Amino acid sequence: MAKIQMKTPLVEMNGDEMTRILWADIKQLLIEPYVDLKTEYYDLGLKHRDETNDQVTIDSANATLKYGVAVKCATITPNAQRVEEYGLKQMWKSPNGTIRAILDGTVFRAPILVKGISPTVRTWEKPITIARHAYGDIYKNSEMVIPGPGKAELVFTGADGKEIRQPIFDFKGPGILQGVHNLDSSITSFAHACFQYALSIHEDLWFATKDTISKTYDHRFKDIFGEIYESDYKAAFEAAGIQYFYTLIDDAVARIIRSKGGVIWACKNYDGDVMSDMVATAFGSLAMMTSVLVSPNGQYEYEAAHGTVTRHYYRHLKGEETSTNPIATIFAWSGALRKRGEMDALPELQAFADRLEKAVMDTVNSGIMTQDLALLYEGEAQTVTSRMFLYAVASKLPAAE
Ligand code: NAP
Ligand code: MG
Repeated sequence: MAKIQMKTPLVEMNGDEMTRILWADIKQLLIEPYVDLKTEYYDLGLKHRDETNDQVTIDSANATLKYGVAVKCATITPNAQRVEEYGLKQMWKSPNGTIRAILDGTVFRAPILVKGISPTVRTWEKPITIARHAYGDIYKNSEMVIPGPGKAELVFTGADGKEIRQPIFDFKGPGILQGVHNLDSSITSFAHACFQYALSIHEDLWFATKDTISKTYDHRFKDIFGEIYESDYKAAFEAAGIQYFYTLIDDAVARIIRSKGGVIWACKNYDGDVMSDMVATAFGSLAMMTSVLVSPNGQYEYEAAHGTVTRHYYRHLKGEETSTNPIATIFAWSGALRKRGEMDALPELQAFADRLEKAVMDTVNSGIMTQDLALLYEGEAQTVTSRMFLYAVASKLPAAE
């Protein structure tokens, strides 16, 4: 059988530990037999990041701006222990943070659903995608302990030297204080990424904040979303038969629980942090969460939401065959190949991505799965190693339609 040809290379970002092992196997067993894989390869493994003074991470993000689609393996974000373990020159920043800053993107996370693993919420039938704003608010705050009585004020000094002052609180005793900010430009990028993503996956978009309490700060988010929707997206949403609406965060929480799923829920930074963990857990397993970073200019970077699965890697190094779930990493590849196929008008490549995902589902539906899923599975499960799972998927791939 002739292999599927590609036109434009995918940006391939390799990573670390157990996911790096899975990465090579996924390519070899599931992709390369069918696709004449063209990639521009960047090794984001910690050792190579250190050797290049992290330039490789920056280069890989710039390549994503150039080509439009990337697939990324999980990577170690170094801490003090990793600096010692790898003998690093310095504690390099989180690669995801660096890439996100260059692409100015929004992260969309959605669970992969399988039959036999029921969401904790009975009404959920389809995945819920969380779109998390990844800039500002409490993640870039300034905070202090108030030692005793005194007056707290909000002060802005303009570039022209003019001051705007506003009282915060008259402290009668000790307490705490915090200042947060956000930017119109960042909220605007976030809004565009959400509207474009909703159009690309053809699902309703919900956005929620606490604007009844935060009448200026949160209200600004609501207004920017509303204005951009009216001017740039309303017609396209109506034509696509999908909906955008804004609601209060309390109402959104209640509606999500009652919904059937199949929506994108856009959240401010903190809400997205917390709600994505809640949604992921309620759907089953972190190993089944996909993640895609979408830039406001329509560049896409696909990855699994989980990390490098260090505990499994240490067992792998001791010669043990681990039962690490490769599904989210396979879906990062299928997502990236599908998007590449869409951009380059290659229907065979898009169809291959569908088949690959179908083969994964067929495998799980036949009862073959890794240990993390077997623990949650309601039917009779056959627990296998990662490699056996990948062989099972490979055997189902030719027939998957
Ligand atoms: P993790 O790699 O996601 O693993 C946490 C635990 O979750 C694992 O020990 C395992 O539990 C379970 N798990 C996660 N993915 C799994 C899979 N595919 N199959 C089976 N079980 C899975 O998180 P971490 O241990 O906090 O972080 C490890 C490294 O990953 C860190 O260096 C961190 O910096 C990095 N990280 C990278 C990314 C990224 O690149 N996007 C994201 C998060 C973390 P059991 O051990 O109980 O089986
Ligand atoms: Mg969190």
